[in-house]
Amino acid sequence: MTPVIIARNLYKCYTGFAPVLRGVDIDVAAGEMVAVMGPSGCGKSTMLHVLGMLHAPDSGSLEILGRDVLALNREETASFRRNAMGFVMQSSNLFEHSTVFENVEFPLIYEKIPPQERWERVIRALELVRLSPRVHYRSNRLSGGEQQRVAIARAMVNNPRILLADEPTGALDAKTSRLVMDNFRTLCHTGGVALVMVTHDPQMAEFCDTIYTLEDGILHCRRRNIPEIPSGGGTELLGGQSPLVRGALVAARFPEPCGQSLLCQARRMYAQGLLSRIYALRDTTLFGDSAGYSLPLAVRRVGLVRMLGSVLNMFRHMRGFSADLWGLWRALPARGRGKKAWAHLRAFCTGSLLARWGLEENMEFFFAAGAHDEATACWVASRLTKKPFAFAVRARDLAEPGQDWAAKGKDAAFMLCDTQATCRTLRALLPALQDKCFLVRDPLTLTPPEDDTEKDPASTAGPVALLAAGTLDRRKGYDVLLEACALLRDRGLSFTLRIVGQGPARAGLRRLARQRGLTSLVEFPGQIPHENMAEMYAAADIFVAPGREHPRGRTDGLPSTLTEAQAFGLAVVASNLPAQTEAVQDGDNGRLVPQEDAPALAAVLEELMARPEERRRLGEAARASVGELTDEEGARARLRDLFLQACRKPSGASPDTQS
Ligand code: ADP
Ligand code: MG
Repeated sequence: MTPVIIARNLYKCYTGFAPVLRGVDIDVAAGEMVAVMGPSGCGKSTMLHVLGMLHAPDSGSLEILGRDVLALNREETASFRRNAMGFVMQSSNLFEHSTVFENVEFPLIYEKIPPQERWERVIRALELVRLSPRVHYRSNRLSGGEQQRVAIARAMVNNPRILLADEPTGALDAKTSRLVMDNFRTLCHTGGVALVMVTHDPQMAEFCDTIYTLEDGILHCRRRNIPEIPSGGGTELLGGQSPLVRGALVAARFPEPCGQSLLCQARRMYAQGLLSRIYALRDTTLFGDSAGYSLPLAVRRVGLVRMLGSVLNMFRHMRGFSADLWGLWRALPARGRGKKAWAHLRAFCTGSLLARWGLEENMEFFFAAGAHDEATACWVASRLTKKPFAFAVRARDLAEPGQDWAAKGKDAAFMLCDTQATCRTLRALLPALQDKCFLVRDPLTLTPPEDDTEKDPASTAGPVALLAAGTLDRRKGYDVLLEACALLRDRGLSFTLRIVGQGPARAGLRRLARQRGLTSLVEFPGQIPHENMAEMYAAADIFVAPGREHPRGRTDGLPSTLTEAQAFGLAVVASNLPAQTEAVQDGDNGRLVPQEDAPALAAVLEELMARPEERRRLGEAARASVGELTDEEGARARLRDLFLQACRKPSGASPDTQS
């Protein structure tokens, strides 16, 4: 294979000084890692700048990727350089007050890449250096090594065939330097990127295939090994894997304003090769917290303006989609009753927009994250595009089942329920569609660390720490918990209670805590970053989920915090809501209490407070039972089969390399 860089007899002299380069000859092959060493001031940076077309040599020839680059004019040179080369310097030169995303995005703006494509490319570039989870960080919050890896991602985002690096590890300690070098090695040896790296550190040079020293303006080869790279010049590093099904996840808001389960769903679907696009029906810019989202899929948002546009289109009763849309509107029972009429119309028009996007982006499948607006929009999109769709039915959707569920369910490929209780209710509601209801539980939203750190025995001595976490809403029953705590306090027991979360009932709960004289025992930390929940679980002794059946059917499903607490090995006390009894078997892996019953809750808590051994036993059992309950492997396989069947693709057709 022809080398990607062929330099012959390069000569460079700064006017008025002695020549720096006096006939540099070098060949660099695709995938080759080249180190150039030499004492300070010997001309290494000058050579790199000449190879990178930042300085013109005085004489000699330079051919890069088969082109005589010295014959290019200024603009051609600049554009060739941006496409073919990436630069990494000693200091990472990031914009300090910008996020990682903005830093890596920068070269793409230069290249006039449209905004909707940038997210995906930035995430893929960050994945190369294993930093995609940091995409929302401000760059001055990163460590030096991370900053340098971000700089590598920025250099790679244009997918260059050549990387030029000037002392990239010069400011890093040995361990971090090795990490950076490992990143380079992956790029070179699997992606076929050619690297020319200037360094004065012999250990870093040892990482490379080829080592030169620059002495008296001439390169001396110390060693050269051209690596074997996959044929065709290496893997397409920024291309991503091709999905099994080009699926679109349709959610009202993405990411959801609180909670993590939707993010985790998306991750699960993506890992199975079932997700290519996310459509959000509403703009989340005001409420949404995109922290934690780091999949290489752009989220396309419908927003109010676009939605209004599509409503107008529908009313104008135009050709094509809009005419069909009227027909569909009439086909849906309960289309415009009462307060729901507007939401319904909106979902409807959004559906036509999704149909257009789906066609544009070759979607093969629409999956609605909820059974109301999302499912209606997907139903419409599916009818217009003739592509299959499915929707999720969650406990909270059951609060107001729509008459249109029967119509949507009839056309849906399947309906996914998050708990057995939801599944039963849905089957009772739609007896004719029983075979389309499937149980696929939510993924765990927070996984405990692998190494099983023994709890500090000293912690059993102090007051017992109670923990509850969730939306502060009446259905969660936290008022019952506070009443129980008042009873425990009256009995002189030593404990503390934390209620984590935000919600409409917050003020009322604080007031109740005050009235019962619990202010010194109860803490309301509010909404906290999700990963910090790990500390909360670690610091707690008992997790309480006192949810109640809500008069208007807004009964809680299985709170993700309850399964999380179990996964972290906490003793849990839960009320006997149908979905909670699926996760907790009384006396086995936790305790169940009747709902709305503060004395009963207090009695169980008192018993557990007095018996740390029993708490430990229940916690261990809970930890073991969660794996079986969530059955991630099984859930993934079922999801994949359902998607493939819906799209009439043979199951197990493509190799499952993505999980
Ligand atoms: P290195 O990177 O190996 O330390 P450089 O390539 O930066 O070396 O510098 C090589 C020599 O050229 C040094 O003596 C330096 O002072 C000189 N030099 C570098 N840039 C310029 C310039 N723009 N004008 C004049 N002299 C320069
Ligand atoms: Mg230098």
